[in-house]
Amino acid sequence: MIAQVIVDVAARQTDRVFEYHVPDGLDADVGSRVIVPFGRRKVQGFIVSLTEQSSFAGQLKDLLLVVDEMPPLTEELVELSADLAREIFAYRISILKTMLPGVMRANYRKILVPASEQAAKLPLFQGDEVDLANLEEAHLIKMVKQLISKGEARIEYLVENQARKKMTAVYFPRLKAEEYRELLNEVRAGASQQKKLLSDLAENLPAYPKSREQLKELGISTAALKNALEKNWLSLKEVEQYRRPTKPVAPSQPLKLNADQAAVLDRISQDLQAHKSQTFLLEGVTGSGKTEVYLQAISQALALGRTALMLVPEISLTPQMVRQVQSRFGQQVAVLHSALSEGERYDEWRRIRRGEAQVVVGARSAVFAPLHNIGLIIIDEEHEGSYKQDNNPRYHARDVAIWRSRYHGCPLILGSATPSLASRARAQKGVYQLLRLQKRAKNQPLPRVDLIDLKHVQFAGSQFDLSCPLTEAIQDRLAKKEQVILLLNRRGFANFMLCRNCGFVLKCPNCDLSLTMHKDTWTMQCHYCGYQEAVPEVCPNCRDRQIRFLGTGTQKVQEELSELFPQAKILRMDVDTTRRKGSYERILTSFGRGEADILLGTQMIAKGLDFPNVTLVGVVNADTGLWLPDYNASEKTFELLTQVAGRAGRADKEGQVMIQTYNPDHYAIRLAQKQDYELFYAKEMQVRHAGDYPPYFYTVLVSVSAKNEQNAAREAFKIKRQLLSVLKAPTIVLGPAPATISRLKNQYYYQILVKYKREKHLNELLHQIQDQAQEVKKYGLNVEIDPEPERIM
Ligand code: ADP
Ligand code: ZN
Repeated sequence: MIAQVIVDVAARQTDRVFEYHVPDGLDADVGSRVIVPFGRRKVQGFIVSLTEQSSFAGQLKDLLLVVDEMPPLTEELVELSADLAREIFAYRISILKTMLPGVMRANYRKILVPASEQAAKLPLFQGDEVDLANLEEAHLIKMVKQLISKGEARIEYLVENQARKKMTAVYFPRLKAEEYRELLNEVRAGASQQKKLLSDLAENLPAYPKSREQLKELGISTAALKNALEKNWLSLKEVEQYRRPTKPVAPSQPLKLNADQAAVLDRISQDLQAHKSQTFLLEGVTGSGKTEVYLQAISQALALGRTALMLVPEISLTPQMVRQVQSRFGQQVAVLHSALSEGERYDEWRRIRRGEAQVVVGARSAVFAPLHNIGLIIIDEEHEGSYKQDNNPRYHARDVAIWRSRYHGCPLILGSATPSLASRARAQKGVYQLLRLQKRAKNQPLPRVDLIDLKHVQFAGSQFDLSCPLTEAIQDRLAKKEQVILLLNRRGFANFMLCRNCGFVLKCPNCDLSLTMHKDTWTMQCHYCGYQEAVPEVCPNCRDRQIRFLGTGTQKVQEELSELFPQAKILRMDVDTTRRKGSYERILTSFGRGEADILLGTQMIAKGLDFPNVTLVGVVNADTGLWLPDYNASEKTFELLTQVAGRAGRADKEGQVMIQTYNPDHYAIRLAQKQDYELFYAKEMQVRHAGDYPPYFYTVLVSVSAKNEQNAAREAFKIKRQLLSVLKAPTIVLGPAPATISRLKNQYYYQILVKYKREKHLNELLHQIQDQAQEVKKYGLNVEIDPEPERIM
């Protein structure tokens, strides 16, 4: 038998498959993690196929080791890794590793092993191997070199981080209950420990086996247990104990669906029963009861003997959310997210792999959960940007989910109150099936939203951040002992020019995107097409001198708040205050307990807005996100404002939302005020059409990097010519232009953007360009499919 292996070595070679002979007695399978000889090293790899015949002429080397008892990757995942690698221009090995929990990605430790008994006695070894990474002292390094050259020691590679199971001692009964009862009668009067043990065995035998900890809690000593083993009352085994991140919760019953929910579930159910792969876009206003539909659809999948996968954004994977799923599906649920310990993640993952968990709830990377026979996949809040990984491999969980839904023949539900434009457009074309929930589950009204026009208003503080109407409203809530949330939309944070007199924003004449100020060159630049002009001194629209370069920071607003409300307790939540693990939850919990009056934060608070005592939500400046140089600036603004508005006033006290803006007439803001997604969609699609933007065009970003700026530019121009020689209209090739961060770690970056509708050969052409770059090694090349808009120059 011959194994084809993808090895984990420097990127250049990794997409090649290497062949190894499988020696007798080695239990190798597709998906197995193996150790193979590679040159003079031993490295880790994954078997991607097994064949009888080798294409290699020479003598094959043997596989050395199969690492895990069960192949960590299923055949499905191995197949997926090949397709995904091609699709997103990533190395296959990086995808294979991404599919596994961190502890199984394994690294190598270079260790020094003594080669003779004599050498083993050297103090350096202390009878053991030496980790070379820890060897820092110069004289020791010299000594190691000498030992190696004399053959007294050799370097080996050790698979590190071998994920460890947690083992625990468990006591099994060896007798029947009545036999224990008899023994209990015979026991000496003074042997109280033994009595305790025997009476527990006599009365609670069905509760056995019990762990050492459980018995200790009953007050039974180690000596008594030892004695029980000697007398053959009990036997002892080391068994694995899963580290579970969640505690059992009380079961809950399905709610009675309202008519709209029932219709939606019915439609999904048809395809679920028929094993049909179909993507549904579930567009449901905030509070419409999407979660209940998900849960009941999962129940149906389980009833068919199939499994279910539910993805939620990391930030909404709160304990309450998980508890809700657990209360329906109990021990069948496995949870995967970044707050788990390595051990917990490893164990949850193995429960899935072994088929012991049938429902997986997790964040982005859980889309690779090794479930068998998937009957339903759900992606909640499908518009969230975090579903795309923003470093290599840059996969989008939605695309992976679509692939898996085809493989398993199962429905995929994409749910949101504000679907991404791309998904909504696909639903329009019939690629996805559109389902809608237009009312709140219990028919509650949507909250009232007021716009405050910052062009015609008095400011309360010295910083021009908080208007009088908003500060008066805050004052009013403070007096009533109610709470306030203030949101500062600061996505991306770019400096754009805004006129305080007329609200004019300086934009690119070619692209209609806001220009970004560059202080170093004192120019306004378009990060999309490279256009630039001098920084203006007066507003080009109204000639006023009151021009400002935004943005505002949370710290600045906090200062202004303390100035205006010296008595109020203010909590701030932004990247600076949430860097430490658990601080996010801590701030929200503290605010929920009423320990502060005002919670001020960036968009990360939008998800946590479920506080009954919050009656006012203020948006400090709705425009900051609006004029970012991204084609989807309006979409993101609309989305954020709608989500914020939808969270207010969920309880009995009526909620109010106040949005401060210089652009009350902008459609994104006007329609967010009305919480009208469909109208926004229609309007935004016109804008995208006029500008040749997605979803009318697909995009690919090619970035070229080099130590020398001219080289980077020159290579980028060459690539552009190569692209243009093949690609024809309506495909558009833009750039090269310097990247947003044009210089990073002494590398200069230039980018080319390809916009296309249908290009059969584009993928192949780009792979060719990528291969060229690897061959000459003079410059770096990165290809990104569907780049995040803010990464487009
Ligand atoms: P969404 O996820 O669509 O924003 P949720 O699933 O959070 O909405 O539902 C909002 C509220 O409505 C929740 O408190 C939920 O328990 C409740 N709810 C959902 N469906 C029903 C129903 N059929 N009957 C009664 N209450 C419901
Ligand atoms: Zn431009």
